[in-house]
Parts: sequence; structure tokens; C-alpha cells
Amino acid sequence: MNLKTVFAAFILTISITVSAQPDRWQQRVKYAMDIDMNVQTNRFTGKQKLEYWNNSPDTLKKVFYHLYFNAFQPGSMMDTRSRRQGSIVFRKDRNGNDVSDWDERVRDRIVNLKPEEIGYQKIISLKMNGRAQTFKVLETILEVKLDKPILPKSKVVFDMDFEAQVPIQVRRSGRDNPVTKVRYSMSQWYPKLCEYDYEGWHPTPYVGREFYGVWGDFSVNITIDKNYILGGTGYLQNANQIGYGYEAEGAKVVRPAGDKLTWKFVAPNVHDFMWAADPEYKHISKKVRDSLTIHVLYKTSNTTDADWQAVLANAERALPFIEKTFGPYPYKQYSFIHGGDGGMEYPMATLLFNQGAWLHEWMHSWYYGLMGTNESLYPWMDEGFTDYASARVRAFLENNPAWPYAGSYGAYFNLVKSGKEEPLSTHADHYNTNFAYGTAAYSKGTVFMEQLGYITGAPVRDRILLEYYRQWRFKHPNVNDFIRVAEKVSDIKLDWYKEYFVNSTKTIDYGVDSLWEEGGKTKVRLRRIGLMPMPIDLQLTFKDGSKELHYIPLNLMYGEKPAEDPSITRKVYEAWKWTSDYYVVESDRKLTDITTVEIDPSQRLADLDRRNNKLELKW
Ligand SMILES: [Zn+2]
Repeated sequence: MNLKTVFAAFILTISITVSAQPDRWQQRVKYAMDIDMNVQTNRFTGKQKLEYWNNSPDTLKKVFYHLYFNAFQPGSMMDTRSRRQGSIVFRKDRNGNDVSDWDERVRDRIVNLKPEEIGYQKIISLKMNGRAQTFKVLETILEVKLDKPILPKSKVVFDMDFEAQVPIQVRRSGRDNPVTKVRYSMSQWYPKLCEYDYEGWHPTPYVGREFYGVWGDFSVNITIDKNYILGGTGYLQNANQIGYGYEAEGAKVVRPAGDKLTWKFVAPNVHDFMWAADPEYKHISKKVRDSLTIHVLYKTSNTTDADWQAVLANAERALPFIEKTFGPYPYKQYSFIHGGDGGMEYPMATLLFNQGAWLHEWMHSWYYGLMGTNESLYPWMDEGFTDYASARVRAFLENNPAWPYAGSYGAYFNLVKSGKEEPLSTHADHYNTNFAYGTAAYSKGTVFMEQLGYITGAPVRDRILLEYYRQWRFKHPNVNDFIRVAEKVSDIKLDWYKEYFVNSTKTIDYGVDSLWEEGGKTKVRLRRIGLMPMPIDLQLTFKDGSKELHYIPLNLMYGEKPAEDPSITRKVYEAWKWTSDYYVVESDRKLTDITTVEIDPSQRLADLDRRNNKLELKW
């Protein structure tokens, strides 16, 4: 088979998996939107036709939409929350000044927005199957009480007319960022149906945090001043009418008459749609493999041409490693777009304040774009898995043999020591501090994945990643789904890992307690000090340079990891019962032969106090 056939077969597999849904039902949407943008007033009108498949066994009497732009109004929940976080001082900076917990981008900016700077989404009319519906706007949530319920396994059509004003950029979306000078970063810009799943509706008010969307297809026509250049989630359908580097090679661009152009995009099988527009965007692109073109749209306001050329070159270079490790990228297009206020992921695209976060945001194509986890409930499966993946890909790109996760472990340890840690299972919006949320989601989430490799063995963890991709792409995996994949692939029970590391803030601390010689053999007694139990790798190093690995599985695992390094002799013990504080291992060598005794020399065990992990013996 040539490459093209391989890809076609792959696409076929996707559509079968999606429709089969062996594990859970999943709602489905099909959006068709016509947008007319006025770049003088920064307002637009929209017509939205939304086909909605209720695949659930439930009768729906209500539906909910997100109206994210309404967060950018004085007194909104996002405003109130940000100002409250501003009153929380959680540490001093290097100069001894108080550091407050608010997001520096948001601060108290929302309360000071002028009427022409706020954002809004106004619903003009909403019909279901042609009948007008009554609705209530609850700030960033639209609640619609339906005149007739939507029955299980049925489809309805919503028709909505809406108007919106693009806010001055405060957080993620908006216009006229003062540094990038990008005119429009259009994320969270349209009335977006909330997801309904096995836990019911998720009408999560927008306070600046996480997202969750319904899987479906988008067709978006954007009419805008003809001088603007756009990029975004979808494939451009009328490229030869648009030009700006999108036209087919050698094609003659014929633009319709008038001051505006209509950009026609489609995006199959995604859970959101983002676009950005600026009259000064530069556009470079490259077909990096069969059926995949990478686009880069940027300005040279706060970045250089070379910055973005490097992004494109590195993306191409990293792609084979990424696809081998995390699974194939299934769409035909990906776009790195200068915009937003940091780095933010969207299906098939990212908005980047500068090129810095390009790799992190791209890896979100896997953990967010394809694994559409409810980020409000599991931000660490989104940010943590992405951070884990991008650190690994960066090490590949830089050909750096150093272990790439030391920073994440360090950040997690700092969080624990700060006393502000909350369990990973905390809803993203409801952490007490942005500090605890950020470190938990990004750093502890990364530690979760790397430490899983300590428990199962790294090659098994890598098989887990690919099986997770295979089973859960284009769906909404939760923590149990991930754990079950990991258990099946590793043949190790891992529910305890979730209960301790995700649902609690219990910590790990093991120590070398004592060692002595008995009948020419050496005994080493280990002690569990922390409340979270783990399997133990204990390495003994001898005067002649040889090593022994003593491996003690945890009894809750009902299994053991395979040897990771065949060059070291490994002795496997009976499992350590989690109720026991001590465990004694034995080496055939004399005590005086030993130079070092060390728990987990790989440092993947998130042991809070490493001082008691290693004993060096001087004879
Ligand atoms: Zn991220």
C-alpha cells in the first residue's frame, strides 16, 4: 500500500470508531454559521443553524449554550473572581514585593472596560424546528426551556440570530492586543451549545478557565473587509477566491467585487471553532507529509520572521516522532496563528502571543483536540498530559539526553510545601488559588504520567499512551477511562494510584531505614514514611561497580512491572502490603561490598523527601 492508501484506511477506521461508540453514547452537533463582521465597530451579526443529535437515553426539556463574550463586562463572574484573587497574596517575589494570585492579564481590567470595549453576545431569536423558543441569559450561559422535549435518539434543528461585540482583549479572545497588535483573536466567539453527557448538562459559567464541547462538524462563512487575512480551525473551501497564500499552486485568484470577502471554512469532527484576522498577517505554509499542510500566520510586531520559520521547520521535524509516540494527527491542516494573549489550543490551530509555546499548544491537538476530556473536571488530563508530551518532544528536538521532567517534579514539591495544594480532582473553576490550580494541572499532571512509567515500566506506559489514543480519540475520556486502558495494557491494577494521587493530596516518602549483615548476607530495611504507598525500586551498587535492582511491587497492583533495564540483575519480591510500614530486602553480597543503597535512582517516584532515599557507605 502506498502512503495515500494507508491514510485513507486510517480515516475509515476513525469514522467506524466514532459511530460505534462501544463505551458511552455521545451527543453530536452540526453547525452552519454565516458571520458578517464590521471592522469599524468591531461588531458582527451571526446566523447559526445547529443540528443536534440527542444520542442519550434521556428526554431533554432544556438546552444550554455558552455565551463567553458576556464575561467581559464589569461585574461579571470573571471580573469578580479575578479581583478576589487579587486580594490573595501567596508569596513574595525576589525583591520582597507581594505577589497576588490574580492573572496578570485580567487583573481588574474588566471593571474598567468602556461600553465600546466590552464584549457581548446578544440572542435576537432562537427557534427549534421552526418554533420560537423562550430563553434566559444568565451572563455567560443561555438557558433555553424548550416548548417540546427532545426525545432520546432524535434530532432537532435550532436556528439562531445573534449579534456580538468583540471585547478589547482581556483574556484569550478579543481585539487589538497592545503587544501583538493582532486585530481579532476570535475564540469563544459564537453561542456554543453546552455538552450533555452521562453526568448531565455542563453549563459551566465562564470565569476564565477550562472548556468542554460537543463533537461535530462546522461550516463557517465569515464575511469581512477584503483586506483582512484569516486563519483558523477549518479548511478554506474557496481558496482561489481568497488568495493570500491559500490558493492552489499556480491558480489565478479571482476575487468577487465589493469591499468584503466571504471566507468559507469547514471543519469535520471537532469540538470548537476558532479564527483570527488581521490585515497585516504574513502567511507561510508547507505540506509536511501526505494529507497534512501546516500554516503559520504572524505579524512582526513582537516577533521576527525567523521565529516563525523555525516553528514551521521544527514542527515538520518533530512530526514523525510525535505521531509514533502519541498517535497519528488525523486532520489535513494545522495552523500556528499569532494572536491571543499567551498560548491557547483550539482544534487544528493555536493562538500564540509569540512563538514560545508553539510545541505545548500543538501537543494539545492530542490532549484536548482529539481526547476531548471535560477540562473543567480533569484539567490535568489536558494540561498535564500536554506538558508531559511537549517536554518529551522538546528533548527529542534538542537531542537532549537529560531527563525532561525535573522542573515539573520540583514545581509539584513546591506546591505541596506551600500548604496550598488541593486534590487534582478539584473542578478547575473552584481551586482556591490560580497558583494551586496551575501547578496541579500542569506539573502534577506531568508527574502523574511520568510516575506511571515508574509503576508500569516506561515501555508499557508508552503502549498505554497509544492504546488511549486508539480507544478514546474523538470522544470524552475521563480519569477512569484512562486508568482502565492503563490497567488493561499493563495487567496491573491502578485504581489505588488514582485514589491517592488524583483524589487526595497524600504524599510519597520512602526512606532507607537501616542495614546490617546476617550470615554473610546483607539486609536492607526500608520504611514508608509518607501516607501514599508505591512500589519500590531499590538499587544496590557494589565496590566492583556492579549493581543489583531489588524490586518490591505494591500488593494493590496484583502484578509487577517488567524489567526496564536488562543489563542490571533484578530480584523481584513478594508484594509490600500497603498497611505495613517496613519491608526488608536481602542481598547475597557482604555489607562491606556495598557502596550505595538508593531508592529509585531514576527519580521518577515523586518522593517528597529524597534525603533519606540514598545512603552512601564509606569503608
Ligand atoms: Zn496548555
